Amino acid sequence: MEDTTKYVIIGAGIAGISTAEELLRLDPAGNITIISDEDYYYRAALSEYFQGKIERNEIFAKEDGWFESAGIDFIRGAVTSVDTGARKITCDRSESVQYDKLLIATGASALTTPWPGLELDGVCTYRGLGCVDTYLHEIEEGAKKAVVLGGGILSFELIDNFLQLGLEVTLLVRGEGLLGLLFDEDGAKIIEDQLYARGVDVRFKTEADSFEGVNGKVTGLVTKAGETIPCDLIAPAIGIRANVGFLEGSGIEVDRSVIVDGFLRTSTEDVYAAGDCCAVRAAPGDRSVPTRTWLTSALQGQAAAVNMTGGDRSFREGVIFNSSSVFESFYAVLGLFNPAEGSGHAFRSWKFADGSYMRWTIEKGRLAGAIIIDAMKYVWPVRQLIESRVDVTGLLESDIENADLLELVPQGQQVLF
Ligand SMILES: Cc1cc2nc3c(=O)[nH]c(=O)nc-3n(C[C@H](O)[C@H](O)[C@H](O)COP(=O)(O)OP(=O)(O)OC[C@H]3O[C@@H](n4cnc5c(N)ncnc54)[C@H](O)[C@@H]3O)c2cc1C
Repeated sequence: MEDTTKYVIIGAGIAGISTAEELLRLDPAGNITIISDEDYYYRAALSEYFQGKIERNEIFAKEDGWFESAGIDFIRGAVTSVDTGARKITCDRSESVQYDKLLIATGASALTTPWPGLELDGVCTYRGLGCVDTYLHEIEEGAKKAVVLGGGILSFELIDNFLQLGLEVTLLVRGEGLLGLLFDEDGAKIIEDQLYARGVDVRFKTEADSFEGVNGKVTGLVTKAGETIPCDLIAPAIGIRANVGFLEGSGIEVDRSVIVDGFLRTSTEDVYAAGDCCAVRAAPGDRSVPTRTWLTSALQGQAAAVNMTGGDRSFREGVIFNSSSVFESFYAVLGLFNPAEGSGHAFRSWKFADGSYMRWTIEKGRLAGAIIIDAMKYVWPVRQLIESRVDVTGLLESDIENADLLELVPQGQQVLF
């Protein structure tokens, strides 16, 4: 290896950029190249741009010229293969690139099915800036009706956006429930009711069969039952998958995601991964866990950089935390927020007078996770209670409503986010 280490990062999302920023700090003499097929932007803020709350230029997280001024070589292009033997990366838009240490931070893409008509104008998955631009363009051209596929939280966010812009929305769901991955039934109902109140046409047990169009532009969706739903936009939001196809033949272990250990190391020496593209298998034989949130991706990127520069920082997920807003509600999920039925956990839940909601998952008397909708004052204390493993068995209802829950956390055991 030369004196100057050549770091290559694939993917300029929050994971890749966090790694680069940490590398700049830890190894100022290092040579950093980032290869990405998109610029860096706040992906989690796409709805703000969609709804016109921020301008398009405000979604970009770095000012023009940032890479140059930081001394980073930025290649705009898609990596097509990685040769781990020769330590060489092939990209569609440049000569091959050599690395000493490699970070894979390619994120995830929306899942689709090969529906006939997927290529029509007006059909676009909700994942990146390009698809928001497409939706906005179609709306500007007169699109009035959208069909959204999938009953997860991203569909709700998307529907909220369409409604704000005055579109009529039909939601197709394969199963019989909504938001099942994130919330329990009572929690889901609070958000669902807001969907119905806004006049969204929700069709359960309904699947898309094909998309119809005229002159290359979508005009309708045909269901498996043979019904045609006229529309100008179709937005599949049926799940995501890690962007790992280009790793085929590289020898790097992939099991739907890039598998990394607790130090973000892949199965191949000097190759690391962080963010939505990876799943952490903390010990051999353990289940590998993808997390896929903004904060986790940033923290993984930082830990990966430490290890790429010869350090030894294990990535500890800590209490899983995710929070966002949809329609008029803010929500947060923490820890083991929605364990599978029959997992043996106990639950306590509260519907507060102002319509807000909280449910706790309890494991052997201790708080293991929570769903919180609109009762945001509880987020911080609940997080502390989960971390400090306080026994909550004896907590009274009055303690929850009136007392400062933080007082239950033993001195010296409070943690920072
Ligand atoms: C609409 C939306 C809302 C969200 N809201 C929230 C939220 O409220 N809170 C939260 O915690 N998380 C949220 N998320 C998730 C969060 O945005 C992701 O967890 C985070 O962006 C993952 O960062 P990443 O760097 O791993 O991947 P990405 O941000 O996906 O970046 C990876 C980059 O790599 C590029 N790439 C992929 N393959 C290649 C290749 N072969 N060659 C070159 N480049 C490649 C991709 O194009 C992409 O630009 C949201 C996501 C979406 C889509």
